[in-house]
Amino acid sequence: AGKEQIQLAEGIRSTLTLLDHKVRSKHIAVTLNLPTDLPVVCGWPGELNQVWTNLIDNAIDALPDGGKLEISSQPDREFVLTRVIDNGSGIPADIRDKIFEPFFTTKEIGKGTGLGLDIVQGIVKHHNGSIKVHSEPGHTEFSICLPVQ
Ligand code: ADP
Ligand code: MG
Repeated sequence: AGKEQIQLAEGIRSTLTLLDHKVRSKHIAVTLNLPTDLPVVCGWPGELNQVWTNLIDNAIDALPDGGKLEISSQPDREFVLTRVIDNGSGIPADIRDKIFEPFFTTKEIGKGTGLGLDIVQGIVKHHNGSIKVHSEPGHTEFSICLPVQ
């Protein structure tokens, strides 16, 4: 399928709706900061929804009951910068280099494939974007930069 003009806020909101059962069962407090006048991004909506799904899924897994999830998008020069932030466990320093490798997981068998972030990275590249991670105990932030149309 060809590229489409995408309102990121829509995809993020509908992804959260799909993950609502998981958000509720862990009593996660979600904060959305998605301005209505964000620039449009050009790309493949199904792929970008996979990005939000995988990042939000990981954040929820890392959160304790009652944890906080924040998703914010903002224009940033020729890009839209989206941050997915959780106040969960954090990513231990000794595995930070490995999390984007296919099949790397710290989860129990059956709970994680280790493919989520590999897929995210591939999709971000496909959109000529970039991804960064910053993590410390109690704070993990994935930042995704996607070029505006
Ligand atoms: P999976 O979720 O199947 O384990 P991913 O590729 O999505 O595979 O993630 C790889 C690993 O990165 C996870 O197993 C986890 O250890 C770590 N990770 C990813 N996101 C987070 C996060 N938000 N907080 C803490 N650890 C994370
Ligand atoms: Mg995952």
